[in-house]
Order: sequence, then structure tokens, then C-alpha cells
Amino acid sequence: MKVLVINCGSSSLKYQLIDSDTEKALAVGVCERIGIDGRLNHTPAGGDKIVIDKEMPDHEVAIRMVLDALADDSYGVIKDLSEIDAVGHRLVHGGEKFTESVIIDDEVIRGVEECSPLAPLHNPANLIGVRACQAIMPGVPNVGVFDTAFHQTMEPVAYMYGLPYSYYEDFKVRRYGFHGTSHSYVSGRAIDLLSLNPGNSKVIVCHLGNGSSISAVKNGKVVDTSMGMTPMEGLVMGTRCGDIDPTIVEYLAHTLDKSLEEVMQILNKESGVFGISGGVSSDFRDLDAAARQGNKKAELAIDVFSYRAAKVIGSYIAAMNGVDAIIFTAGVGENNIEVRQKIMDYFGYMGISLDKQANQVRGEEKVISTLDSAVTVMVIPTNEELAIARETVALVKQD
Ligand code: ADP
Repeated sequence: MKVLVINCGSSSLKYQLIDSDTEKALAVGVCERIGIDGRLNHTPAGGDKIVIDKEMPDHEVAIRMVLDALADDSYGVIKDLSEIDAVGHRLVHGGEKFTESVIIDDEVIRGVEECSPLAPLHNPANLIGVRACQAIMPGVPNVGVFDTAFHQTMEPVAYMYGLPYSYYEDFKVRRYGFHGTSHSYVSGRAIDLLSLNPGNSKVIVCHLGNGSSISAVKNGKVVDTSMGMTPMEGLVMGTRCGDIDPTIVEYLAHTLDKSLEEVMQILNKESGVFGISGGVSSDFRDLDAAARQGNKKAELAIDVFSYRAAKVIGSYIAAMNGVDAIIFTAGVGENNIEVRQKIMDYFGYMGISLDKQANQVRGEEKVISTLDSAVTVMVIPTNEELAIARETVALVKQD
């Protein structure tokens, strides 16, 4: 089957056309600046990137351009649209309503809309992508794969906040967690690669990218994860602050004479390693370069990021009463040798040690701990698009 995987944001749309038999992407691309001006970057497998600058007033136009590119005579990868068997959509927030992937129908759309207050920037944008596909490719099944679904196995002890209970009942205020597709794919892959017993395994997945989260996966099920009701909670991220004392919000609003929305914008877009580094960058490659040139704030940002990740890992070892494997994934986790080393250095007391040579790896599946390490540490590149394509095929075949 050929599955079009779509990750639709408010002004961008990432896509991959995946052949489910080979599990390879036939083409990947992104539409940027939708509603502003419009640019399509399209790369057929093994070919050169094509850049098309063309007006994209809305997502429907953007998807039409993607489909045109996929079926183009020179840089396309299919003859015509009838070759697309299904579309898999990344949907950000499924609340408590969606505990697994679903074939999208009107009722599902209503359910996703009901969850929109929990992710006002993401869910409506995701649905625009769904509706555009329904309009352009009638009869082609659309599947929704939720960022939150894999985390729905958490128990109340992990998902309840220290707030009045009625806020949970009335307003659904609780921990949901995100990056679920990645945590699911990577923890499953770890169980396979390390031949762990799926029913008796303890895996910690560190998804460290621009957005970062860590999850504790016991017997294949999430028991805790660091992101919360929104993707703001937990680790220090590229530009997001992660955990802070909530009083800081009030304090900054008063001190800077800013509205709540303005303060939240600062916590979302101007904080994290970008903020700590004094605005050097949210990108770890830039931070590494600045730190090497003696920039102390950039160095501090990397240290805070690593320390905070180590603290979460430590707490999850306690939450699961042990750990069999710690896995690094996503941009930073897959590629940043120094950050992995800094994080794992905190666990020397537990007998966990990295093999310095093995840890020189970037972006491939590899054990990076020493043979005598008490816990296996691995790099496993995430592949959220493939995971979405697999879920899509499974549901469409069932239907
Ligand atoms: P997102 O949350 O946007 O999906 P990614 O998982 O792509 O983020 O991670 C982006 C981060 O990964 C950036 O900080 C970037 O510096 C880092 N990164 C990506 N590729 C490399 C690389 N080859 N070497 C070092 N760091 C990298």
C-alpha cells in the first residue's frame, strides 16, 4: 500500500509518501508559509530537492500542490492519485477520548474538535489537513494517529496534578503527554532489538529534539511521561521553559507589565536553551559551536538541559523500580554525543557507563553502553512517519 502521511500545522504541512511493503519513503517534503506566500520543498527518494515558490492561500491549495508534485512527470513518484491508498494524519491532542489510532469519520472529527481547547494551536490545524484530504481525495480512507494516545495507559497517580479534583472532572486538567508515536515506536523497537520480554520490561525513552520529552515504559505501556497537559511541561527545550515555579508567571506579568498571553509567549518561544544561552540559538549545533568558543551561557544552557534530563530519568527509574534500557532518540538524542555523555555521567553510581567509542554514533541504531554497564543504553532513530503509516495500514486492512 502507498500511504500519504501528513503532519499539518497552522502554517506548514510536512508529508511523506510511504510504501508500506518496503517501509521506505518514496518522497518527502514540506509546504511552508501557508497563508503567507507559500513554498513547497519536495524530494523524491534518491532525487534532488525541488523548491516551488507558489501562492498557498490555504491548506487545500497546499495539499493539491503536494499531490501534483507526487504525480509530476519529472520529479513525481506515482502515475496518478489513485495510487494513494490511504492518508495517515498526525493529530496532536486526543484528550482521554482517543486511546488509539482511528479511521476518521464525522464523529471522530467532532471528538477531535472537542479536544481542541486542550491544543488550540494544533488540533484545528490538524483538522484542516483532514478536511482538505477528504475534499480532494473522496473515498480514500483517512486515519488519525494521536500524539497523546500511547500515554493513555498512565495511572491517575501519574497523571493527576496537585489541583482541586473538580478541575480534572470538569475541565480535563491532567497530564496527557506528547510525542506518543515516537515513544511507542522507539520503545517497541528497543524491546525487539534487545530481545526484552515485552511483558516484563522497563524502558526509558529520551526523545530529545527541539521539543523534548522522556517516558517510562513498563511492559510496553507508559507509566509516566514528562510533558503534561500541554507540551510546555517537563524538560528544558529549544525555546520552551519546561518545569518552572508557576508563581514565576504571575511575577513576570507584574514585573514586566505584560498580559498572561504575553508571558506565556515568552515561556514558549523565548525560553529554554535559547533563553538561558542569552539568545544564542535554540539549535544544539549552534550552542555547541558557541560553547566551544567559550560562550559560558551557551555552555550553561547545555548543562541545564542535560541535568534536567538526568533528573527525569532518575525519577523514572524510581517510578518503575528499575530500568532495563535507556534509549536516546530525536535530533539531539540521535546526534549529540556530548549531551548523551553528560546525561549518562549522572548515573555512574548505578553502574551505568557509556562506551566512548560506541557513543560516537549519529543517527543509527546502536548500543552505546559498555558490556559491563548495569543498564543497556542505545541510540534508536525515531520514525514517526513510518509509525503513522503502519497504524494507517493496520486500520485500513481491518476495515
Ligand atoms: P523537532 O522537535 O523540531 O522535531 P528535532 O528532533 O529535529 O526537533 O531536533 C532538532 C535538534 O536536533 C536541534 O537542536 C539540532 O541541533 C539537533 N540536531 C539535528 N541534527 C543534528 C546533527 N546532525 N548533529 C547535532 N545535532 C543535531
